[in-house]
Amino acid sequence: MELRLLGGAEEVGRSALLVNDSLLLDFGMLTDNPPQFPVETPSPDAVVVSHGHLDHVGTIPALLSGRNRPPIHWTPPTAALARTLARDTLKLHGGTLQCPFTENDVKRIGEVSETHGYRESFTAAGHEVTFYDAGHIPGSTHVLVDDGDTRLLYTGDFHTDDQRLVGRTTARPDADVVVCESTYADVSHDDRQDVEERFVESVERTLWEGGTVVVPAFAIGRTQELMLVCAAHDIPCYVDGMGIEVTKMLKRNPEFVRDADALRAATSHARFVTGRDGQRSRITDQRAAIITTSGMLSGGPAMTYIPQIRANPTNKITMTGYQVEGTPGRDLLETGRADIGGRVMPVSAQVEQYDFSAHADGSGIRDFLDAYAGATVLVNHGDRCTWFAEQLRADGIEASAPAIGATVTV
Ligand SMILES: [Zn+2]
Repeated sequence: MELRLLGGAEEVGRSALLVNDSLLLDFGMLTDNPPQFPVETPSPDAVVVSHGHLDHVGTIPALLSGRNRPPIHWTPPTAALARTLARDTLKLHGGTLQCPFTENDVKRIGEVSETHGYRESFTAAGHEVTFYDAGHIPGSTHVLVDDGDTRLLYTGDFHTDDQRLVGRTTARPDADVVVCESTYADVSHDDRQDVEERFVESVERTLWEGGTVVVPAFAIGRTQELMLVCAAHDIPCYVDGMGIEVTKMLKRNPEFVRDADALRAATSHARFVTGRDGQRSRITDQRAAIITTSGMLSGGPAMTYIPQIRANPTNKITMTGYQVEGTPGRDLLETGRADIGGRVMPVSAQVEQYDFSAHADGSGIRDFLDAYAGATVLVNHGDRCTWFAEQLRADGIEASAPAIGATVTV
């Protein structure tokens, strides 16, 4: 089996792996300024997508811009999220070099989309492919690819602990080669329940003192997770941004969430913000949590909320995910000021960070790989892939971290 790494090697973003020059796994986008895409746009016979995050699915429509119309295989939530993200990219960058596809390319997704559930094998570009639940976000998969000689497990992003929205990964299908994500290989997560308890206590304290809490959150997965947390602890909350559309889509795909009843209850508990009639300004003096995109304060309705609540030290901003260097969210945590919508502003409101991760940490990844003793491990999707591969080798695992653009025969 021949593997070519077109992106996501020694980096997080623009994941893309070409198998035997014919089957493409993921085709993502690295959100940067300007955005970055896989190093090459191949003409695969078929495409398989592990899950609906921008760094795995963001550049998919560009594969449909020429004559080539490869079938795209994914789970139903991933198919829906791919469209949502593509439309958002068009809105942000459409018609510029920063957007490698057109509205027509996005429309063509409907012609080539083939959805599959977990553990139902199908054929793609002559390979037998099976999806297993990866426990990362709804519809996320480990992708098992068998070319007749070699079995490849492409882990995609995965989590080895339960979240409220999705349960942990449990499947460990036999494989000869594992391409393994390593986002948090050098991190040890705090116990999830402790993180949630600290978050709830902090939000409740602020509301009790009469403040408002803005909760920046990624639209896909994190927004719904925090809605579930708020509902479970009866914290009044509003939800704003792309997370609303994603929540509605997940309610239509109940078999891909851990507890569909809980999500329904959380949706009734939350109030969705329409933004009409100055609603956003009005709710910023209410004793409530406002869950809103973007998760790193680089756009979205958060741009309206932060300026309104920032001057009052009773208010609070709770970051709920990893903040990439150079983003306003990271600046705010480190310096207490941030560029919000083109204006650098000091923030007197309290700023806190909570690790609601959807990825396995170092020991989670090691536990996962324990099931693959004897397999060859290729480390990708991380800032320290080479370092992690060295750690694995020191423990007797045949591991390496191929560079971007490299071709590996396994
Ligand atoms: Zn992901």
